[in-house]
Amino acid sequence: MALSFKFGTVGSPTGMPKKPGGSVGAIEFSKLIGLFALELGWVQSVRVTEATCAAIKAMSAKEAVALSVHAPYFINLNAAKEEWPKSRKRLMDAAHYGYLAGATDIIFHPGSYFGNDPAEVLKVAIPRLEGCVKELQKNGSNVTLRPETMGKSAMLGSFDDALAISKAMDMVQPCIDFAHLHARPGDGSMNTYDEWSRLLETYGKSLGGKALKNLHIHLSGIAYGPKGEKNHLPLAESDLDLNALFKALNDFGCGGRILCESPAMEEDALVMKKTWMKVSGEKEK
Ligand SMILES: [Zn+2]
Repeated sequence: MALSFKFGTVGSPTGMPKKPGGSVGAIEFSKLIGLFALELGWVQSVRVTEATCAAIKAMSAKEAVALSVHAPYFINLNAAKEEWPKSRKRLMDAAHYGYLAGATDIIFHPGSYFGNDPAEVLKVAIPRLEGCVKELQKNGSNVTLRPETMGKSAMLGSFDDALAISKAMDMVQPCIDFAHLHARPGDGSMNTYDEWSRLLETYGKSLGGKALKNLHIHLSGIAYGPKGEKNHLPLAESDLDLNALFKALNDFGCGGRILCESPAMEEDALVMKKTWMKVSGEKEK
Protein backbone atom coordinates (compact mmCIF):
# COMPACT_ATOMS: atom_id res chain seq x y z
CA MET A 1 0.00 0.00 0.00
CA ALA A 2 1.13 3.51 -0.73
CA LEU A 3 0.97 5.87 2.24
CA SER A 4 -2.12 8.09 2.55
CA PHE A 5 0.14 11.11 2.25
CA LYS A 6 2.92 11.91 -0.17
CA PHE A 7 5.74 13.90 1.44
CA GLY A 8 8.12 16.43 -0.05
CA THR A 9 9.61 19.91 0.16
CA VAL A 10 8.51 23.38 -0.93
CA GLY A 11 11.35 24.37 -3.22
CA SER A 12 14.20 22.09 -4.30
CA PRO A 13 15.77 19.86 -1.62
CA THR A 14 18.95 21.56 -0.38
CA GLY A 15 21.13 18.46 -0.70
CA MET A 16 20.46 17.80 -4.37
CA PRO A 17 23.46 17.49 -6.68
CA LYS A 18 24.34 20.49 -8.89
CA LYS A 19 23.72 18.47 -12.05
CA PRO A 20 21.27 18.27 -13.72
CA GLY A 21 19.89 20.83 -11.23
CA GLY A 22 16.68 22.78 -11.64
CA SER A 23 13.25 21.30 -11.14
CA VAL A 24 14.13 18.20 -13.17
CA GLY A 25 17.05 17.45 -10.84
CA ALA A 26 14.90 18.21 -7.80
CA ILE A 27 12.30 15.65 -8.90
CA GLU A 28 14.96 12.95 -9.46
CA PHE A 29 16.63 13.66 -6.13
CA SER A 30 13.32 13.74 -4.22
CA LYS A 31 12.42 10.30 -5.55
CA LEU A 32 15.90 8.98 -4.74
CA ILE A 33 15.58 9.89 -1.05
CA GLY A 34 11.98 8.64 -0.73
CA LEU A 35 9.99 11.86 -1.20
CA PHE A 36 7.14 11.45 -3.71
CA ALA A 37 5.89 15.03 -3.86
CA LEU A 38 7.50 18.36 -4.66
CA GLU A 39 6.22 21.92 -4.65
CA LEU A 40 8.02 24.04 -7.23
CA GLY A 41 8.90 27.37 -5.62
CA TRP A 42 7.99 29.93 -8.25
CA VAL A 43 7.79 32.47 -5.45
CA GLN A 44 9.55 35.50 -6.98
CA SER A 45 8.14 35.27 -10.49
CA VAL A 46 7.07 32.76 -13.13
CA ARG A 47 10.00 32.56 -15.55
CA VAL A 48 9.79 29.26 -17.27
CA THR A 49 9.54 28.29 -20.94
CA GLU A 50 7.09 25.80 -22.39
CA ALA A 51 10.04 23.52 -23.24
CA THR A 52 11.18 23.52 -19.59
CA CYS A 53 7.61 22.79 -18.50
CA ALA A 54 7.52 19.78 -20.85
CA ALA A 55 10.81 18.47 -19.38
CA ILE A 56 9.52 18.90 -15.82
CA LYS A 57 6.27 17.14 -16.67
CA ALA A 58 8.08 14.22 -18.30
CA MET A 59 10.37 13.73 -15.29
CA SER A 60 7.49 13.96 -12.83
CA ALA A 61 5.62 11.26 -14.78
CA LYS A 62 8.73 9.05 -15.05
CA GLU A 63 9.55 9.24 -11.33
CA ALA A 64 5.90 9.37 -10.16
CA VAL A 65 6.60 12.46 -8.08
CA ALA A 66 3.43 14.56 -7.63
CA LEU A 67 3.94 18.24 -8.38
CA SER A 68 2.49 21.42 -6.96
CA VAL A 69 3.51 25.02 -7.66
CA HIS A 70 3.92 27.78 -5.10
CA ALA A 71 2.82 30.89 -7.01
CA PRO A 72 4.66 34.24 -6.57
CA TYR A 73 4.34 35.92 -3.17
CA PHE A 74 3.17 39.14 -4.81
CA ILE A 75 -0.43 38.11 -5.35
CA ASN A 76 -3.20 39.92 -3.52
CA LEU A 77 -6.88 39.21 -4.15
CA ASN A 78 -7.56 42.43 -2.23
CA ALA A 79 -5.11 44.58 -4.22
CA ALA A 80 -6.10 48.12 -5.17
CA LYS A 81 -7.98 48.26 -8.48
CA GLU A 82 -4.97 49.46 -10.49
CA GLU A 83 -2.69 46.82 -8.93
CA TRP A 84 -5.03 43.88 -9.39
CA PRO A 85 -4.23 43.11 -13.08
CA LYS A 86 -0.56 42.51 -12.19
CA SER A 87 -1.49 40.29 -9.25
CA ARG A 88 -3.94 38.41 -11.40
CA LYS A 89 -1.37 37.81 -14.12
CA ARG A 90 1.08 36.29 -11.60
CA LEU A 91 -1.56 33.84 -10.41
CA MET A 92 -2.71 33.00 -13.94
CA ASP A 93 0.88 32.50 -15.16
CA ALA A 94 1.60 30.18 -12.23
CA ALA A 95 -1.55 28.18 -13.05
CA HIS A 96 -0.96 28.10 -16.81
CA TYR A 97 2.72 27.14 -16.73
CA GLY A 98 2.19 24.95 -13.68
CA TYR A 99 -0.39 22.97 -15.59
CA LEU A 100 2.01 22.64 -18.53
CA ALA A 101 4.66 21.37 -16.09
CA GLY A 102 2.32 18.66 -14.82
CA ALA A 103 1.44 20.33 -11.51
CA THR A 104 -2.04 19.60 -10.23
CA ASP A 105 -2.17 22.17 -7.43
CA ILE A 106 -1.28 25.87 -7.42
CA ILE A 107 -0.65 27.37 -3.99
CA PHE A 108 -0.92 31.13 -3.41
CA HIS A 109 -1.02 33.66 -0.59
CA PRO A 110 -4.47 35.26 -0.82
CA GLY A 111 -3.40 38.77 0.20
CA SER A 112 -3.89 41.38 2.90
CA TYR A 113 -6.94 42.84 4.66
CA PHE A 114 -5.37 46.32 4.58
CA GLY A 115 -7.09 46.81 7.93
CA ASN A 116 -10.56 46.11 6.56
CA ASP A 117 -13.16 43.72 7.86
CA PRO A 118 -12.51 40.16 6.60
CA ALA A 119 -16.15 39.80 5.47
CA GLU A 120 -15.86 42.95 3.32
CA VAL A 121 -12.51 41.82 1.92
CA LEU A 122 -13.99 38.47 0.88
CA LYS A 123 -16.63 40.35 -1.13
CA VAL A 124 -13.77 41.71 -3.24
CA ALA A 125 -11.58 38.60 -3.23
CA ILE A 126 -14.13 35.94 -4.14
CA PRO A 127 -15.46 37.46 -7.40
CA ARG A 128 -11.91 38.18 -8.55
CA LEU A 129 -10.86 34.59 -7.99
CA GLU A 130 -14.04 33.36 -9.67
CA GLY A 131 -12.98 35.31 -12.75
CA CYS A 132 -9.60 33.53 -12.69
CA VAL A 133 -11.25 30.12 -12.35
CA LYS A 134 -13.58 30.78 -15.28
CA GLU A 135 -10.66 31.74 -17.50
CA LEU A 136 -8.64 28.66 -16.48
CA GLN A 137 -11.64 26.43 -17.21
CA LYS A 138 -12.04 28.06 -20.61
CA ASN A 139 -8.35 27.45 -21.38
CA GLY A 140 -8.49 23.86 -20.14
CA SER A 141 -5.89 24.46 -17.41
CA ASN A 142 -7.09 21.74 -15.11
CA VAL A 143 -5.55 22.65 -11.74
CA THR A 144 -6.76 23.16 -8.19
CA LEU A 145 -6.06 26.67 -6.89
CA ARG A 146 -5.14 26.57 -3.22
CA PRO A 147 -5.35 29.76 -1.11
CA GLU A 148 -2.94 29.17 1.79
CA THR A 149 -3.84 29.71 5.43
CA MET A 150 -1.52 32.50 6.57
CA GLY A 151 0.40 32.93 9.81
CA LYS A 152 -0.17 36.64 10.48
CA SER A 153 -3.49 37.91 11.75
CA ALA A 154 -3.42 40.94 9.37
CA MET A 155 -3.34 38.68 6.32
CA LEU A 156 -6.31 37.46 4.34
CA GLY A 157 -6.08 33.70 4.86
CA SER A 158 -7.55 32.65 8.19
CA PHE A 159 -8.86 29.09 8.22
CA ASP A 160 -12.39 30.52 7.83
CA ASP A 161 -11.32 32.72 4.90
CA ALA A 162 -9.77 29.76 3.09
CA LEU A 163 -12.94 27.71 3.63
CA ALA A 164 -15.22 30.55 2.50
CA ILE A 165 -13.22 31.10 -0.70
CA SER A 166 -13.13 27.37 -1.43
CA LYS A 167 -16.83 26.86 -0.81
CA ALA A 168 -17.72 29.70 -3.17
CA MET A 169 -16.47 28.03 -6.36
CA ASP A 170 -15.19 24.91 -8.10
CA MET A 171 -11.46 24.24 -8.62
CA VAL A 172 -10.50 25.92 -5.34
CA GLN A 173 -9.53 24.14 -2.10
CA PRO A 174 -7.44 25.39 0.83
CA CYS A 175 -3.74 24.81 1.29
CA ILE A 176 -3.67 24.19 5.02
CA ASP A 177 -0.48 25.43 6.60
CA PHE A 178 -0.73 23.95 10.09
CA ALA A 179 2.33 25.86 11.31
CA HIS A 180 0.65 29.11 10.25
CA LEU A 181 -2.61 28.09 11.94
CA HIS A 182 -0.67 27.39 15.13
CA ALA A 183 1.17 30.74 14.93
CA ARG A 184 -1.76 32.93 13.90
CA PRO A 185 -3.55 33.25 17.28
CA GLY A 186 -0.15 34.14 18.78
CA ASP A 187 -0.84 32.49 22.15
CA GLY A 188 0.46 28.98 21.50
CA SER A 189 -3.01 27.55 20.93
CA MET A 190 -3.93 25.37 17.93
CA ASN A 191 -1.46 22.71 18.89
CA THR A 192 -3.46 19.90 20.45
CA TYR A 193 -5.24 16.78 19.24
CA ASP A 194 -8.64 18.28 20.18
CA GLU A 195 -8.02 21.58 18.41
CA TRP A 196 -6.80 19.87 15.22
CA SER A 197 -9.75 17.44 15.36
CA ARG A 198 -12.31 20.26 15.58
CA LEU A 199 -10.63 21.96 12.66
CA LEU A 200 -10.71 18.82 10.51
CA GLU A 201 -14.32 18.21 11.46
CA THR A 202 -15.20 21.72 10.25
CA TYR A 203 -13.19 21.18 7.08
CA GLY A 204 -15.04 17.95 6.28
CA LYS A 205 -18.43 19.53 7.02
CA SER A 206 -17.78 22.53 4.77
CA LEU A 207 -15.98 20.92 1.85
CA GLY A 208 -17.09 17.29 2.08
CA GLY A 209 -15.45 14.11 3.29
CA LYS A 210 -13.73 13.60 -0.05
CA ALA A 211 -11.79 16.84 0.45
CA LEU A 212 -10.20 15.36 3.61
CA LYS A 213 -8.66 12.63 1.44
CA ASN A 214 -7.12 15.23 -0.83
CA LEU A 215 -5.55 17.70 1.58
CA HIS A 216 -2.66 19.90 0.58
CA ILE A 217 -0.65 20.66 3.69
CA HIS A 218 2.32 22.90 4.44
CA LEU A 219 4.22 22.03 7.58
CA SER A 220 7.26 23.22 9.55
CA GLY A 221 8.22 24.36 13.00
CA ILE A 222 7.39 28.00 13.64
CA ALA A 223 8.28 30.95 15.89
CA TYR A 224 5.47 33.36 16.74
CA GLY A 225 4.52 36.40 18.79
CA PRO A 226 1.29 38.25 19.59
CA LYS A 227 0.70 39.13 15.91
CA GLY A 228 1.35 35.60 14.75
CA GLU A 229 4.12 34.15 12.61
CA LYS A 230 7.71 35.35 12.98
CA ASN A 231 9.67 32.73 11.04
CA HIS A 232 9.75 29.06 10.20
CA LEU A 233 11.90 26.75 12.35
CA PRO A 234 13.27 23.23 12.07
CA LEU A 235 10.84 20.79 13.74
CA ALA A 236 13.31 19.95 16.48
CA GLU A 237 13.56 23.61 17.56
CA SER A 238 9.82 24.22 17.65
CA ASP A 239 6.88 23.46 19.94
CA LEU A 240 4.68 22.02 17.18
CA ASP A 241 3.10 18.79 18.40
CA LEU A 242 3.60 16.71 15.27
CA ASN A 243 2.35 13.50 16.88
CA ALA A 244 -0.93 15.07 17.99
CA LEU A 245 -1.48 16.59 14.55
CA PHE A 246 -0.77 13.34 12.72
CA LYS A 247 -2.96 11.38 15.12
CA ALA A 248 -5.87 13.72 14.30
CA LEU A 249 -5.20 13.46 10.54
CA ASN A 250 -5.11 9.70 10.82
CA ASP A 251 -8.30 9.48 12.90
CA PHE A 252 -10.17 11.57 10.31
CA GLY A 253 -8.98 9.31 7.48
CA CYS A 254 -7.07 12.15 5.82
CA GLY A 255 -4.75 11.90 2.84
CA GLY A 256 -3.08 14.03 0.19
CA ARG A 257 0.26 15.83 0.28
CA ILE A 258 2.40 17.18 3.10
CA LEU A 259 5.07 19.62 1.93
CA CYS A 260 7.79 20.64 4.35
CA GLU A 261 8.69 24.33 4.68
CA SER A 262 11.17 23.95 7.52
CA PRO A 263 14.69 25.35 7.06
CA ALA A 264 15.79 21.72 7.44
CA MET A 265 13.87 20.94 4.21
CA GLU A 266 14.22 17.30 3.13
CA GLU A 267 15.60 16.23 6.50
CA ASP A 268 12.38 17.34 8.21
CA ALA A 269 10.23 16.09 5.31
CA LEU A 270 11.66 12.63 6.01
CA VAL A 271 11.07 13.07 9.75
CA MET A 272 7.43 13.86 8.91
CA LYS A 273 7.16 10.79 6.72
CA LYS A 274 8.68 8.54 9.39
CA THR A 275 6.43 10.04 12.08
CA TRP A 276 3.37 9.54 9.88
CA MET A 277 4.24 5.89 9.33
CA LYS A 278 4.66 5.41 13.08
CA VAL A 279 1.41 7.17 14.00
CA SER A 280 -0.73 5.65 11.22
CA GLY A 281 0.86 2.22 11.17
CA GLU A 282 0.99 2.47 7.36
CA LYS A 283 3.87 0.85 5.50
CA GLU A 284 5.33 1.44 2.08
CA LYS A 285 5.03 -1.58 -0.17
ZN1 LIG B 1 3.30 29.94 1.16
